[in-house]
Order: sequence, then C-alpha cells, then structure tokens
Amino acid sequence: MTSYLLRGVSVLGAEPTDLLIRDGVIASGPATGADIIDAAGLVALPGLVDLHTHLREPGREDAETVETGSRAAALGGYTAVFAMANTSPVADTAGVVEQVWRLGREAGLVDVQPIGAVTVGLAGKQLAELGAMATSAAGVRIFSDDGHCVADPRLMRRALEYVKAFDGIIAQHAEEPRLTEGAQMHEGEVSTRLGLTGWPAVAEEAIIARDVLLAEHVGSRLHICHVSTAGSVEVLRQAKARGVRVTAEVTPHHLLLTDELAASYDPVYKVNPPLRTAKDVHALREALVEGVIDIVATDHAPHAVEDKECEWAYARPGMVGLETALPVVLSVLGERWDLIAERMSRTPARIAGLTGHGTDLAVGDPANLTLVDPSARRVVDPSELASRSRNTPYAGTTLPGRIVATFLRGEPTVLDGKAVK
Ligand SMILES: [Zn+2]
Repeated sequence: MTSYLLRGVSVLGAEPTDLLIRDGVIASGPATGADIIDAAGLVALPGLVDLHTHLREPGREDAETVETGSRAAALGGYTAVFAMANTSPVADTAGVVEQVWRLGREAGLVDVQPIGAVTVGLAGKQLAELGAMATSAAGVRIFSDDGHCVADPRLMRRALEYVKAFDGIIAQHAEEPRLTEGAQMHEGEVSTRLGLTGWPAVAEEAIIARDVLLAEHVGSRLHICHVSTAGSVEVLRQAKARGVRVTAEVTPHHLLLTDELAASYDPVYKVNPPLRTAKDVHALREALVEGVIDIVATDHAPHAVEDKECEWAYARPGMVGLETALPVVLSVLGERWDLIAERMSRTPARIAGLTGHGTDLAVGDPANLTLVDPSARRVVDPSELASRSRNTPYAGTTLPGRIVATFLRGEPTVLDGKAVK
C-alpha cells in the first residue's frame, strides 16, 4: 500500500504542516518511501459525509448507478454517502439494501450506506421489514420514505417506536400531501404571478411540528430531510430547546437559490421541496451556522434527460448536487473550515453512527479526507460532471473551491482533481 506525504497542507485552515498517510491511517514518524504531494495552499478536511443521496440503482441505471454516483461523490470530496430507498425495486427488504451495499463495496470509491424504506413500496400503508434491514449485512440504521412523506401519524408513531430498540432514525420527507396536491413550485408571490399551483410552507412545517411531538412522545430519534422554510427553523428551534431528539438537514440549493428562478420555466430549477424565498434562504443560513440545522445534505437527485428537459409541469423534481455541494457551501459560509467540517462531515457521521469518518484527522485516524484548493474558481460545466445525469442548476455559474484529492482509508479516489478509477 502506497504511503503519501501531503507537504505543506493546512489541516482545517491551521498553519501549514506535513500530513503522512500510511497503512490507511494518519501516521507519524519518518516519511521514508512515501509519494510526496505538494499540498501548499490546500486545505485538508475530513472526508465529507452525505446523509441524502439518490443513486438510482437498482432500476434507473440510465440516470445514475452506484458506481457513477460514487465517483461523483469522491470528486465532490465525499468519503461516505447514504443511498435513499426510492429505487426500483424499493429498498424495503434486506435483499435490496444488501445489493446496494455490495455494489458500493465493489465500486470502492466511497462507503455507500443504504437507507431502508419505512413502508413497503414507499406506499405509506404498512411498515417495511425494518428489523431485517437493520440486522442485514448492510446494517441499516436510517429509514426514510424520501420522495414521499410518511403522512399517516399512526404509522409514523409505530416506525419511531420500532427503531427505538436499536437507536435507529426515521428520516422524514416533511410534506403534508393534502396540502401539496398538484403543486409546481413554492406558494407565494411568484407562483401567483406565474399562475402555477403552490406548495405552501405550512405543508412542511405542519409535518415537522407533528413529528417532533411524536418523537418526543415516543422518545425516539427523528431526522428532518431538506428543511426549506423559515417557519420550519422555528419549529425545530423550539423542539431542540425542549430536548427532543431531532436533527435536521438543509441542501446546498436551498441555501443559495430562490423561487424567482421558476420564472424562467427551466425545469432544472424544479425540486421538492421547492426553492423558497430570499427570507427563507436567510433563515436557513442562520440556522445552519447556529446549529438549529445540524448538517448539509445534498439530496443529489440525478434524472435522465427525458425526465428533465421537458415542460415544467411534466419534469421530475430534483437536482444533481454531489460535485458542487462544497463549492456552494463555501460560497455561502466562506472559509470557515471548522464549521464546514462540522456540518458536512463530523455531525453527519455522528448522527449516522458511522465510525472512521468525520474525524479530526489526528494520528491513528483512518485516512478519510479531502484536499481543497480554496483559491481556485470553477465555472460549472454539466458535460464535465461524473454523474450520469446533467441536471445541475449551476451550469455556467462560477463557484469557489476545487476538490484536488480525496482519500478513502488511505487510497486516493481523486488526484489532481480527477477520479483515479
Ligand atoms: Zn425528499
């Protein structure tokens, strides 16, 4: 196994130092025989961890595979991603989650951890085999019907009760379906002007309010996917102040983009939950800095061309995000490296109970890390993405920061900004 000496690297923005990677871990001592990487001007972060990725395999390999999504993740600085269950077939059995887990191991570019469905077929009628998925080789700890809300409160309560036994988590896509029927975008001034059916903020806030009460009642762990409104932040703030075991994520696009973009009718801006107002974006940024929102998660949602390059009303919601997440967060938070590591690596790893990721890069820690050039600027070119899909809202946008290298247990997955395999 090759050793690497990262010469002159800044670990989390600290003074430049040399970082030795040997036998898969951060090492000390002489660097005899190590390959030397000139890391002057580069910042080392613990490898990023994404709790919300759609890898599309099995079923929509034309949009993404575990391998292409893993490569996109590595290029984005990630060393672990959690694969959502809305595949075809749905990841609602031990067999399917083990298949996804095994495909991730075979690709070997990031640690792929499957998320199991809460309900059979994501249909919201009957609990899936949560226990069988938890005890499978994939060791599932997070369950979500993402794409759909677990709308039935009795089913949600039972799911929370079930996972409590093994400290599992229910990750909710908070959307009261009766309030979003036919919705095309955020309900507000812009939707009124465009004459499009709106997705009201209260449809998200009402479910979060209900579910934090259920989680409090049961004493279980709840995670809220892709929080998108200022009102949701207030519900979470109150719940956390009471000690409810709730965590929450925000996507890079909800930290940067607003519903005004829908006026272009370009379906690349169609996403669920929808882009909200500038006031919401402001509240989400503040909540992320404060920690009311715990983490950034991509909601990387690749779609085939025919599902995205069509009329707005028929386009599927979602954006690719793995390869642009860190640059977008850098543009929002600035070079606050410790905060970025906290929100994109340490806390997601801690929420998921994922050991070996999200470390402080101390001697002896597994060498799961990424090297970023903060001075670089990049114009996003969809044709250069490693994802099999091209539905990025940032085409032609200049973003700060370039991921130069990524290491998974001491093996480079990305060098010189290019995937190693
Ligand atoms: Zn979702």
